[in-house]
Amino acid sequence: MAGSVMRCLNKIHSNPIPVIFRSASTSSADSSETFDLVVVGGGIVGCATAREMLERHPQLKIAIVEKENKLAMHQTGHNSGVVHAGIYYTPGSMKAKMCVEGLKLSYDYFGKHNIPYKKVGKLIVAQTPEQVSRIKDLYERGLKNEVPGLEMIEKNEISKFEDKCKGEKAIWSPSTGIVDWGEVCRFFASEFEKMGGKVILNNEVTGFRENNESKGGQGLSPISVLSKKGALQTKYVLTCAGLHSDRLAVMTGCDLSPRIVPFRGEYLQLNDNKKHLCSTNIYPVPDPRFPFLGVHFTPRMNGDIWLGPNAVLALAREGYRWTDVNVKDCIEMAKFPGLWKLCFRFILPGLKEAGKSIFYPLAVKDLQKFIPEMTYKDVKRGPAGVRAQAMDNDGKLVDDFVFDSGVGSLGGRVIHCRNAPSPAATSSMAIAKYISNKLEKDFTF
Ligand SMILES: Cc1cc2nc3c(=O)[nH]c(=O)nc-3n(C[C@H](O)[C@H](O)[C@H](O)COP(=O)(O)OP(=O)(O)OC[C@H]3O[C@@H](n4cnc5c(N)ncnc54)[C@H](O)[C@@H]3O)c2cc1C
Repeated sequence: MAGSVMRCLNKIHSNPIPVIFRSASTSSADSSETFDLVVVGGGIVGCATAREMLERHPQLKIAIVEKENKLAMHQTGHNSGVVHAGIYYTPGSMKAKMCVEGLKLSYDYFGKHNIPYKKVGKLIVAQTPEQVSRIKDLYERGLKNEVPGLEMIEKNEISKFEDKCKGEKAIWSPSTGIVDWGEVCRFFASEFEKMGGKVILNNEVTGFRENNESKGGQGLSPISVLSKKGALQTKYVLTCAGLHSDRLAVMTGCDLSPRIVPFRGEYLQLNDNKKHLCSTNIYPVPDPRFPFLGVHFTPRMNGDIWLGPNAVLALAREGYRWTDVNVKDCIEMAKFPGLWKLCFRFILPGLKEAGKSIFYPLAVKDLQKFIPEMTYKDVKRGPAGVRAQAMDNDGKLVDDFVFDSGVGSLGGRVIHCRNAPSPAATSSMAIAKYISNKLEKDFTF
């Protein structure tokens, strides 16, 4: 079996001819142009859905509107790059179904379009007797979610999958992989543009207005999508605004809850001379009390090894460093009772996490449980991403994907993707199908 495992670990699906991504157009907004659908947000959820809709309905006029000067600048371009298999998620949840479906759709898509990826697999490793009992439940959950190829691995077999890794028991997931999700997003957008879609960058949406002449009637372009650069006219709107999804939803009369609270995930990186220590994804058994905590080892497409991410409260929605502070974001967080309740419940683990962020050798201690021969001298600080964590007023983290519609005749023409946390990159093609079905059902194009 070990032989087949190693073959699987080393299976690299990369294109012999480098993939060239046509850069997204920088078309500016033209208020005289009218659209059938405007998608706000040029991350992977917005781009995948815009592509799916245009593939289904080539006659539609669709635009993606993004506030940054490039696509995939936030969560989509700052993540672990893992193609998740769908083991952890509550059976029957949207996350569980769309992750398993999304993984299959993604691998098919990568193969069809020669997008480089590696099926490096993943080990979830138990270190304590208590984790050993929980890993069995996790394995059962993975089977219920119909994750392909899962195997339970005994202590003495772990090194056959990852030479230097130690643990008491493990789950091996051969279908887990890695890819650059930013590249995948840009590929979706380039296909979308080839089909006639328009990508409008540097255009931050500030509001929506119902056009007077169409109020209550069937005007061709009932909605103006507003920005400092002018207005775009459209019949329908989809927002996929990640870290700002709650703000966009409120603009069409939706409830403020769930709110987005930004949690930064910082990575360490193995030094070049230690990259040989890890060739597959190595994850801890998640603690059900703090499911978002627990750093992992992740190989990257360029051969680097990232260690992380941790989870610390960010002082700005797009706060990639401790020094990134946005006063408006901080005031909003300070006024949000849900965040106070969460902080009160998790004060100790929260402080520990902040301590490890500042003194990173402390974080290395957690990692040494898996690969004992690494030391703090073998790592350096790496990049960071910010998670858009949806939270209710009681401070409970909203786990599943959430979609919402606005209120009234304007809001009734808008669908919001309000919560698309990990594994939404993996699930993006399945989310795109789900939203497209909803757009077709709710609206008349
Ligand atoms: C640290 C980290 C690690 C992760 N690891 C993984 C992983 O390994 N595998 C996985 O499957 N998932 C992972 N995820 C989750 C995944 O990255 C996200 O779920 C996914 O990228 C969400 O995509 P999105 O399009 O919803 O959001 P985003 O990528 O954040 O895109 C939203 C876009 O909307 C734009 N926008 C916002 N407001 C406006 C406005 N007013 N006007 C115009 N544009 C606007 C933003 O600029 C942004 O480009 C991770 C996330 C993080 C943060």
